[in-house]
Parts: sequence; structure tokens; C-alpha cells
Amino acid sequence: MTARILDGAKIRDQIFVELKDEVRLLTSAGVRPGLAAVLVGDNPASQLYVKSKIAACEQLGLASALLTPPATVNTLDLLAVIEDLNRDNEVDGILVQLPLPTQVDTKRILEAVDPSKDVDGFHPVNLGRLVSGRPGLVACTPAGCMEILRRNDIPIEGANAVVLGRSDIVGKPMALLLMHANTTVTICHSKTRDLPEVVRHADIIVAAMGKAGFVEASWIKPGAAVIDVGTNRVTDAKGAERLFRNFPERLEKFRAKGNALVGDVHPDALNVAGALTPVPGGVGPMTITMLMSNTVKAARLRRASPRFSATQSIAGAR
Ligand code: NAP
Repeated sequence: MTARILDGAKIRDQIFVELKDEVRLLTSAGVRPGLAAVLVGDNPASQLYVKSKIAACEQLGLASALLTPPATVNTLDLLAVIEDLNRDNEVDGILVQLPLPTQVDTKRILEAVDPSKDVDGFHPVNLGRLVSGRPGLVACTPAGCMEILRRNDIPIEGANAVVLGRSDIVGKPMALLLMHANTTVTICHSKTRDLPEVVRHADIIVAAMGKAGFVEASWIKPGAAVIDVGTNRVTDAKGAERLFRNFPERLEKFRAKGNALVGDVHPDALNVAGALTPVPGGVGPMTITMLMSNTVKAARLRRASPRFSATQSIAGAR
């Protein structure tokens, strides 16, 4: 059996079509959703991430602004930048690209973002809303995983879900979303005993550990749905041989390039799982997608008039 591939790019394209319509409606009602990105310093990876987020805004017709404080910025100066954005009515979403330089108190900065503009869903107020099942802005990667499950008609209600990883930005919100969707959730971490046995009971596995190919195919219940959040760059030949032993084409590509991107789930899972997100191309495209979706949602919740929400079907969606 070969698993059905859960194509993140395809779902991104579907959601982008929906978002474009929503942005058009909002803009014609005088509300052009806007995202402000704060990019501190000149980390090339961060620059690349922010560039693709701004490009997505342009593609969807959202307004965007880029603020680039220097790498030497201190906490107080950065707090002032956030305060300005909080006060700016044209800004619906504030994105602080992480990591911040070590001299900056990251927690303080993230907590200074107005929760109604917290499109990354990192603010404790939004996390609290998620815990209590109230509407709010949800962290993008786990929200994207739920879209993948739902839009591929993976049976969720009553399923046994195992989430590998308990970080604030992926594992915990993921487990909460699955619980609210009526799965029975088990959360695993580095101290979990007999991980393979726990994973074997899962109908849905969400792997978010940051360990290349750690989840072996033999742990997976045949037919299970596997959402692989892990994004790991493999550079050693031995590691690549272990991962790509049954995928000669991927091994060849690795040898030519000297590195490969892999998830937390061993590629052999393809022959056991019922459905599987590929790495790359599965969860990856969903994170920016949900950032865009959160920005539009924030604009709708913050600025759209009652008349607009009452007459357009977009109100309350997502
Ligand atoms: P993180 O903060 O490092 O958390 C990793 C989690 O995995 C921790 O809870 C840790 O347990 C657990 N863990 C580590 N080793 C384990 C083991 N041997 N057995 C069981 N659990 C183990 O990572 P993160 O930020 O959540 O990210 C996880 C992965 O997702 C990374 O590869 C990251 O690059 C990727 N990611 C991808 C996207 C995307 O858009 N595709 C977005 C975000 C993250 P403890 O709590 O006990 O330490």
C-alpha cells in the first residue's frame, strides 16, 4: 500500500482563492487588511522568510509594511516599535520574525503585541482562548495541519491522535485543536516511555520534534494519517543512506546536492501510512497560508462593520 499524499501546496492554492475573494469583499467595504512585519538585523534565513510573507500579501491584495530595526536594537526600543504598530489602525497583523537578537527579551516583545493583531497566535491571551475553546488567533502551523486533515476528509472525530512534541508554537496548540475536534489526544515528549508503542495506537500522528526520520515505519499503524511537521536538513551521508534506503532517486539527489530536507517521519512510512504529508511540500506551505488567513481574520474581527459582517458570508468562517 502506498499512502495518499497530502499536498500542502494544493491546499494553499485553494485557501488563497478563498482569501482573495474575502480580501476583495473587505477592501470594497473600505477595509484593506494589512500586515506589518518586524525584521530585526540581517539574518539571511529570516530575511528570506519575511520576503515570502510579504510576497504572499502582495499576491492576495493585502497591504504590507516592513520594519527593519538594526541588530543592535534593545528591548525598550523594540517595544516602542510594537506600540506604534498596536496604535496604527491600518495594521491588522503584527509579525515579529524570530529569532530576535539575544539582548532582546523575546517574551516581553511577543506579549506586547496587541492580541487582536497577534497573527502568529503566540500571545498568552490567544493561547488561553484556544485552551478554553473561544475564538481567537491560532498559531499558524497547527492551524495549517488541521486544514490539511479537514480538507482531505481524514476522519477526525473519535480518532486516536498522537502528537509528538509539546512546544508552545506547534505541539501544545496542535493537541488542543485536535482535542477540540473531538479526537482522543496523547501528547508525547522526550521523557515519554516506549514511544513506538504509543504511536502504534494512533489513527492520526502529528510529528513535531525536529529529529530527522525519527519515527520509524514499523511504529505506524497501517492506514494511519501522518502529518509530518519536522523540517530537518540532513547533511551526513550515513544519515541520508538510512533515510533514503528505499528511495534511490532521493539518495541520488542528496549526493548531487550534499544535503536534503526531511521530516521527523522516516520516508519508509509511505508504504505503511494511509495518508502522509511530504517534506517538503506538506505542512511547510500551510504556515504562510495560515498567517495570511489570520491577517484577514484579524481585519474582519477588528475593523469590519456589523453591517458588513451581517451581509457577507465570510463572517465567522475559519
Ligand atoms: P521544539 O521547540 O524544539 O520542540 C521539540 C519537541 O519535541 C519538544 O517538546 C521535545 O520534548 C520533543 N522531542 C525531542 N526529542 C524527542 C524524542 N526523542 N522523543 C519524543 N519527543 C521528543 O520544536 P518546534 O518548534 O515545535 O518544531 C518542531 C519541528 O517542526 C522542527 O523540525 C521545526 O523545524 C519544525 N517546524 C516546521 C514548521 C513548518 O512550517 N513546516 C513550523 C514550525 C516548526 P521536550 O519538551 O521533552 O524537550
